[in-house]
Amino acid sequence: MAITGSILIGKEEITGTAGTQRAVNPATNAEMEPVFGGGTLGDVDRACTLAARDFDAFRSTPLETRAQLLEAIADNLMAFGDELIERAMAESGLPRPRLEGERGRTCGQLRLFASLVREGRFLNVTVDTALPDRKPLPRSDLRSRKIPVGPVAVFGASNFPLAFSVAGGDTAAALAAGCPVIAKSHPSHLGTSELAGRAIQQAVASLGLPTGVFSLLVGVGNEVGAALVQHPAVQSVAFTGSRKGGQALMALAAARPQPVPVFAEMSSINPLFLLPAALEKRGAAIAAGLVASATLGVGQFCTKPGLIFGIAGPAFDAFKVAATEAISAAASATMLNSGIQKAFEHGVNALGTADGVEKLGEGAEATHPTAAQPALFATTAAEFSANPKLSEEVFGPAALVIECGSADEMVKLANQFEGQLTATMHLETADHALAAQLLPVLERKAGRIVINGFPTGVEVSYAMVHGGPFPSTSDARATSVGAMAIERFLRPVCYQDFPAELLPAELQNDHLSEHTRLVDGKLYIA
Ligand code: NAP
Repeated sequence: MAITGSILIGKEEITGTAGTQRAVNPATNAEMEPVFGGGTLGDVDRACTLAARDFDAFRSTPLETRAQLLEAIADNLMAFGDELIERAMAESGLPRPRLEGERGRTCGQLRLFASLVREGRFLNVTVDTALPDRKPLPRSDLRSRKIPVGPVAVFGASNFPLAFSVAGGDTAAALAAGCPVIAKSHPSHLGTSELAGRAIQQAVASLGLPTGVFSLLVGVGNEVGAALVQHPAVQSVAFTGSRKGGQALMALAAARPQPVPVFAEMSSINPLFLLPAALEKRGAAIAAGLVASATLGVGQFCTKPGLIFGIAGPAFDAFKVAATEAISAAASATMLNSGIQKAFEHGVNALGTADGVEKLGEGAEATHPTAAQPALFATTAAEFSANPKLSEEVFGPAALVIECGSADEMVKLANQFEGQLTATMHLETADHALAAQLLPVLERKAGRIVINGFPTGVEVSYAMVHGGPFPSTSDARATSVGAMAIERFLRPVCYQDFPAELLPAELQNDHLSEHTRLVDGKLYIA
């Protein structure tokens, strides 16, 4: 499949006329072919208008067809074979095994949503039967189900060119819900985005679905993305990326004549709490695991552990020695793009020059301008409390170890955090009392709490929560990974006293038994 630098609007491919850009190989800083033309505001309008036009037709296609669409996208991604992997490698600097794994995960999440669609539980079929003789007032026949919200704008992140991008989890969840998607290519992986877009475009065509189900825009600068969020046809926005970008889109969406929700996944530092008995028993193993997790994927994961808390004492000192040894053995590697590398360098310099912060150790020196040198820093609880900058996300292979004077101080610091995607405790049975003190705090702060593990590695499954209070996301009620991600793009509608033939099929008495449903407060499993 040739990458042509096109914008995909429904079944068409066009060349954008508002400026040009090229993908850059971060390992060589070489510009890549082809040139991508930027979309105009007219292109944004056409894509959104088409999506709005075809929304009703798409949402009324049988669930089986929708499931097949998701599976066809996965099949098409796989059919691109090495071409997709090699383009993603060249654009992201990420190695082949990582991208092959990410492709598997991307297809896995498309297939998970296909099975969710077939299962139909997300429709939330609910019936309160009429009570005509109820005194003092009769009750109407009330039936509800969830319907898709409408066209969804999807902004992928640079750090997952497949799984959190054009055909990633947000798109899969939106299509599964029955929402047309207008995706915007990430400037850091334009070619990968086009291939993923073509996989979706072809799947839509092969199933004879309305063409407005999917479009892919390219923008030079922020204008296209901003116009997309402001377009009246767009009913929801899904975003993964920087806090600055997410907040800019939130402000635009809130200022619309009709404000719409933005589900932005942004910034998280993922604290780790190393409780005393765990440190005593297996401090060296925790140190090795921590450094492996913090440097995985060149530290470019939203779930990278960035802050590590322990209580002063010989076990904590031994942990720091082991962590220093581990970071010294860590390799340098290419980051996703020069902007992210510069932001990392800035973050590391800020940590290194902050009052009361000591550099424990660093990994291999960076061998070229877009590479990162892993680093580990340490400070005390007092310094950490006094300097809010120390709790800012440093996106890349760096982490800060914080020495607390006591268990109470550890709990106090936990209370000071902003919202997080994850929080982790390493513990043994003897630590349970302290863990029980920390747990309610961590529940308030984080979307996922990990015990005796590391937060990198986000399973795509039914129970997964990849979300959390601001600023980790813009809406703590949602997750952007796992089956519950579909809820972001659904809304309930209640049908009161409807004649049977006007009811949606799943709410008609003859079809109720096909779905898991709540009837007069009682749950029936299909
Ligand atoms: P980003 O700069 O926020 O960009 C994400 C997407 O949003 C891009 O398509 C970008 O395209 C668009 N965008 C950004 N600001 C916009 C605005 N004001 N108006 C309209 N569109 C806008 O994110 P990134 O490039 O993936 O990574 C940059 C930083 O984000 C990293 O250094 C890291 O700190 C953080 N990050 C966090 C996570 C996470 O999951 N927490 C993941 C990845 C990255 P245009 O620039 O073309 O408009």
